[in-house]
Amino acid sequence: MFIDYDTFRQRAEALQQRIAAACQRAGRNPVGISLLPVTKTHPAAAADYAARYGLPAVGENRVQEAIDKRAQTTAAVRWELIGHLQSNKAKLAAAHFDRIQSVDSEKLILALNRAATEIGKKLPVLLQINAGQDPAKFGAEPDGAPRLLELALAQPALQVDGLMTIAPLSADPAVAHRTFANLRIIRDRLARQFDRPLRELSMGMSSDLEVAIAEGSTQVRIGSALYGPR
Ligand SMILES: *Cc1c(COP(=O)(O)O)cnc(C)c1O
Repeated sequence: MFIDYDTFRQRAEALQQRIAAACQRAGRNPVGISLLPVTKTHPAAAADYAARYGLPAVGENRVQEAIDKRAQTTAAVRWELIGHLQSNKAKLAAAHFDRIQSVDSEKLILALNRAATEIGKKLPVLLQINAGQDPAKFGAEPDGAPRLLELALAQPALQVDGLMTIAPLSADPAVAHRTFANLRIIRDRLARQFDRPLRELSMGMSSDLEVAIAEGSTQVRIGSALYGPR
């Protein structure tokens, strides 16, 4: 059975307290950090809860699942793709998502620009960087980031908001610290080199959001701490 709204609200409040406490320790303003509820594997009600609570967007990691879910709800939220995207699904993804966080190849950049151009849309994207050098994770290698960004910035139908990463699975919090710090350093370097703000740093999930906030996250993507185990 899926959780009820009251449970969601309590968890969302508890999360906002975690975020506020992490901000206090890091000397940051919580206004600079958004909470992206990750609704994957959960029913469309998960998006309804997010909207009712006042959260502006939800994250999904599969294109078809999100399309199906979106058809089942009138929730006034934006839909963001946070899972791996193959370029043969770029057209569907460009049409059905309000932002794509998992852009990690030249082929995908070109396919998304073509698809967004066809439907007359300016598509916000994040570049996913494998900042933890994790062989098990998708994401562009840090060394390839400048080339990828240069190409993405040259696409008229794409708008590059920033970077995204997922920390390698590890019991040692130092691994996540290193990964998130690395993404911030990469962002700062790219922002200088290309004279763009690249403001969004999408990093941190249920288990490592404090670490991510300490390292400069502007968006934490939260599934299990809101909706329970998958
Ligand atoms: C599932 C998922 C999340 C949320 O993970 P939780 O640990 O449940 O908070 C965040 N980001 C991505 C890319 C995911 O696939």
